[in-house]
Amino acid sequence: MTMHGLMMDCPLMISDILVHASKCHGDQEIVTRLPESGQTHRQNYRTTHERTKQLANALIEDLGIEQGDVVSTIAWNSHRHIELYYGISGIGAVVHTVNPRLDPKQLIWMLAHAEAKAVFFDIQFAPLIDGIAQHCPNVKHWILMAEDAHLGAVQTECRSYETLIGGKSSDFTWPVFDERTALGLCYTSGTTGDPKGVLYSHRSSILHALACSASDVIGVGASGVLLPVVPMFHVNAWGIPYAALMNGAKLVMPGPQLDGENLHAMIEEEEVSYVAGVPTVWLGLLNYLEQNNKRIDSIKRVLIGGSALPEALLRAYEDKYGVTMQQGWGMTEMSPLGTVNAALPKHGDLDREEEIKIKLKQGRLVFGVGMRIVDDEGKELPWDGESSGHVQVRGPWIASGYFKGAGAESFTEDGWFMTGDVAYLDSDGFMTITDRSKDVIKSGGEWISSIDLENEAMGHPDVEMAAAVGMPHPKWQERPLLVVQAKAGAPKDAESIRAFLADKVAKWWIPDGIEFIDAMPIGATGKMLKTKLREIYKDYEFPAVDA
Ligand code: ADP
Repeated sequence: MTMHGLMMDCPLMISDILVHASKCHGDQEIVTRLPESGQTHRQNYRTTHERTKQLANALIEDLGIEQGDVVSTIAWNSHRHIELYYGISGIGAVVHTVNPRLDPKQLIWMLAHAEAKAVFFDIQFAPLIDGIAQHCPNVKHWILMAEDAHLGAVQTECRSYETLIGGKSSDFTWPVFDERTALGLCYTSGTTGDPKGVLYSHRSSILHALACSASDVIGVGASGVLLPVVPMFHVNAWGIPYAALMNGAKLVMPGPQLDGENLHAMIEEEEVSYVAGVPTVWLGLLNYLEQNNKRIDSIKRVLIGGSALPEALLRAYEDKYGVTMQQGWGMTEMSPLGTVNAALPKHGDLDREEEIKIKLKQGRLVFGVGMRIVDDEGKELPWDGESSGHVQVRGPWIASGYFKGAGAESFTEDGWFMTGDVAYLDSDGFMTITDRSKDVIKSGGEWISSIDLENEAMGHPDVEMAAAVGMPHPKWQERPLLVVQAKAGAPKDAESIRAFLADKVAKWWIPDGIEFIDAMPIGATGKMLKTKLREIYKDYEFPAVDA
């Protein structure tokens, strides 16, 4: 017979992190470059807790938000966004972080699908809101994340965040409920069709934050100064808003100012020790450092993920600037953490070139993430450092399904999630990604659906067939190349195709390269053979236009 342990069964509540931060790290600061003014704002965790309780009262009393309601944010990294993370989830509602880089049509669809009751947004997104608000009947409240003085920037009827919470009491007791309650919603728009919602729970987010806290993972304690460049609309800024407060680290929030010069200024002013973001951002910072002969000596470690770590970037930061580059891999469906690259004791004796080979791997499995690699027939492959297969994962912070039942085909019958990444593992659990089975392009950390792009291009009167493939790009890691088979006798006019796409897809989706092919390679099942196209264009170089 099973004998149960005699430990308390306390539900894991996200509000407990904020309470802990305010009690045990009350003086620790969140420093924000305010989106509305560019000025520096400082606020400690004690005040953050007080303001978040005011927000909780406002959400309930003024906006009528109830448990299970969805409240969206379209916002940069800031102290207010932290308050919204904790305030919305803390009352049992769901914080839905929206990626503002999506096409407005997709945003409208998403806000309707999520049944968002209220939307909080930064001033930079006022034009976006003015363009979509009338198409979002379910959104009852629009809130500008600033003071009343900035309301003139928005035409849509809305109120300001500071007035909303300003008059509220900070007397509030965080409710305790089932730890499996939904806490956050983040759509992933990688593959074709409508974006799919990933619904995090209090339990999954706390367990993920605990895993992040391990020293080989993010491992930043109360003396750490953390600058998440990764936006809070990208898988919860990789869990940093939770892990930082859990450990009492100082947070430096860059708002919209993600260029090299501003990042450097914030790193210097706040003595940042740890930064996290996609490779494109680090390339921008590197260019700034090189051109201006600057350094970033306070930084101990850079967590880089979302795309593979380019070797040149690794060498430049480590060899010239003495910064440790640490690669991580994960995805929206994984909260996002899956692997992080941290050396083992046996790597201590390796020479630099061998060490670099290991650092270029996506990383070592984090405890809590189960992984297997399988062949096309679903047979499990060995972790022998060479057998490459489809990566499948499971664990307490990995999605068991998508919001409202979408995308069931991504889950196996025996309960694993199919990542769409192809990789091999070695006997130490280090994963190396070799390919992607999902048909998507990732440009500067953001997805472009190749299939949506092709479908739009095929609407052009001169286009018989079009295939979009992601090709390596020095700045954006990948950019789309559109290969077109023109209709018989039709002109081969790349500019006309580009102009045609202009009002159909987001501007940054427009292919940098359009090449014409006489006969599209077609596979046995009638599908365009993208593998063949990648082979044909393997030496392709994009025209030197900045996307
Ligand atoms: P994230 O914000 O963590 O990038 P997404 O869900 O947008 O999350 O993207 C996840 C996908 O990005 C992965 O399935 C993989 O294809 C790619 N990816 C993430 N990290 C890496 C990495 N270190 N190397 C290569 N590809 C990566």
